[in-house]
Amino acid sequence: MTFKLAVFGNPIEHSLSPLIHQHFASQYGQDITYERILVEHTFAQKADEFFSSGGFGCNITVPCKLNALDYATELTPRAKIAQAVNTLKFNGFVNQKPQFLGDNTDGAGFFQDLKRLNCPLKGSNILILGAGGATRGILPNLMDYRTKVKSITVANRTTAKIRKIFENLQEQVDTGAFLELKASNYESLEPDMHFDVIINATSLSMNNELPKIPPELYSHAQFVYDLYYTKDGSTIFTNKARSLNVEHCYDGLGMLVGQAAQSYELWTGVLPDTENTINYIRSVLQQQ
Ligand code: NDP
Repeated sequence: MTFKLAVFGNPIEHSLSPLIHQHFASQYGQDITYERILVEHTFAQKADEFFSSGGFGCNITVPCKLNALDYATELTPRAKIAQAVNTLKFNGFVNQKPQFLGDNTDGAGFFQDLKRLNCPLKGSNILILGAGGATRGILPNLMDYRTKVKSITVANRTTAKIRKIFENLQEQVDTGAFLELKASNYESLEPDMHFDVIINATSLSMNNELPKIPPELYSHAQFVYDLYYTKDGSTIFTNKARSLNVEHCYDGLGMLVGQAAQSYELWTGVLPDTENTINYIRSVLQQQ
């Protein structure tokens, strides 16, 4: 069977998804086609065209994730929590109407990457910087009681945004009785605070800027992760952490490949190992 796949978005020409999925397929001896589809007007029209011509599954990126949420006829639990869909799968017909399962693999992809990197999660105090869409996506897995995290502090310029995210997720995620959730602004982060893991989920690295946190916080951390990714795996944030002797510092390429792996599993039933593909995509980026 050939899986006909695609990624929808705007812009889309620089999407790495075709390369990532082709690499997964070649590793597992599977046959896929994977194209980039630019959505200039309505997502639903482009998606109808794709699925009526044999499309089996697709990824959806900015700015179409909410359109894909509407397009899906059924949602996975994690898509319901995220209220955004980045993966669709054709699910046969009911009363001659095509059915589409909508999923959101961002959080699971991030979590898969933390596990790959042996991030210390059990009993740890985690600091997440930023409270945008990415933070919303990565929080559910971290908050789940089975992850055994001790505390999660989210820092943002506006704490109201964080409280809203916490309230919403606490209704949907089983956090257990012991997880401490804290909302902070940057000014309230004190040098003597201790976080084992610091995750930069702001968009600051994109502009080569650092979040305003006391340098001591890096020094206390064991593990630092920037969701932003670069050709060589280092960002301004991971460079800062490394200069302050944090041993384990990573960029977000593994998350990108991780979310793709989770989509690939939904379509084909195979969850790819991401290590080889991360190395391959890094080498492609370095040649660009
Ligand atoms: P959003 O635009 O939804 O959120 C941006 C966040 O950055 C907000 O919390 C915002 O704070 C904060 N921010 C922006 N400018 C500043 C500033 N000057 N000072 C302090 N905080 C600031 O973006 P996303 O959540 O979608 O993405 C965040 C990052 O994660 C990006 O770098 C993106 O590339 C990366 N990402 C990586 C993925 C991967 O697969 N590796 C997947 C998704 C995202 P405020 O709320 O106060 O405005």
